[in-house]
Amino acid sequence: MAHQPDYRGRFAPSPTGPLHMGSLLAALASYLDARSVAGTWLLRIEDIDPPREVPGAADSMLRSLEAHGLLWDESVLFQSTRLKEYSATLADLDAVDRVFACCCTRATLGPSGSCMGRCRPRPDEATSLRIKLDGDTGFDDQILGPQQPPNAQSDLVLRRKDRLYAYALAVVVDDAWQGINYVVRGSDLLSQTFAQLEIFTHLGFQLPKYAHLPLVRDSKGVKLSKQTGARAIHDASAVDNLRDALRLLQQKSANMPAGSAIELLSLATEQWLPEALADHPEKSLVYP
Ligand SMILES: [Zn+2]
Repeated sequence: MAHQPDYRGRFAPSPTGPLHMGSLLAALASYLDARSVAGTWLLRIEDIDPPREVPGAADSMLRSLEAHGLLWDESVLFQSTRLKEYSATLADLDAVDRVFACCCTRATLGPSGSCMGRCRPRPDEATSLRIKLDGDTGFDDQILGPQQPPNAQSDLVLRRKDRLYAYALAVVVDDAWQGINYVVRGSDLLSQTFAQLEIFTHLGFQLPKYAHLPLVRDSKGVKLSKQTGARAIHDASAVDNLRDALRLLQQKSANMPAGSAIELLSLATEQWLPEALADHPEKSLVYP
């Protein structure tokens, strides 16, 4: 495969629990996509939602990634150190008239999750800040193919009523700042990508390329996540975990002989074929 030394990818988990098969899959796919072209792979901890964070989870994730041979470049970026930048970027978006205050609750938002500026917050009322979207930004997903925005998009929150910065803002600011040009992540974030691309554009940032992975579900069809109680993976079974993840990613390397995580990763990097996922009929993967 052609070398692309200016490829910069990343894995960016929230520290809300230990690594499970769904998050290992996202880490592994983004790692292999970067390493297969001799690119850079970064790690970012998205710790901007303290109420949801679990003490010790960030450390446990770093240790698990190391145990699985998923070694990152450069130093880990913690989003909690970046609040000033999020504030400055929010001001930049406001300066180009892309932000509005909204007092809607989930119940008063329109069917698509859209406020469309209909609410009229009182001066003393807590408001979230949302992005004004044009809704005309499509993109070519590296796995799923051409993607068009839905007719009615939800007005994404940039800063919550409790004044915490929202994912959509922080992820764009940091992808731009870290020079990330390839984003490989789960399809649960696909619907946000259109809005994120608009934010990149309004700020004059270069647009990254995106590849959205099918979601891993359990045998009952429930998406694996910390919220649904997905089992933590054991670091002592790193090679087996990697084989399971490679199998889910439809990679031939899953069954190749390897004595260690590093050896298996090296084979998987050589053999990495993301197109195998595009042919996967169900767009979702079942584990175990
Ligand atoms: Zn509103």
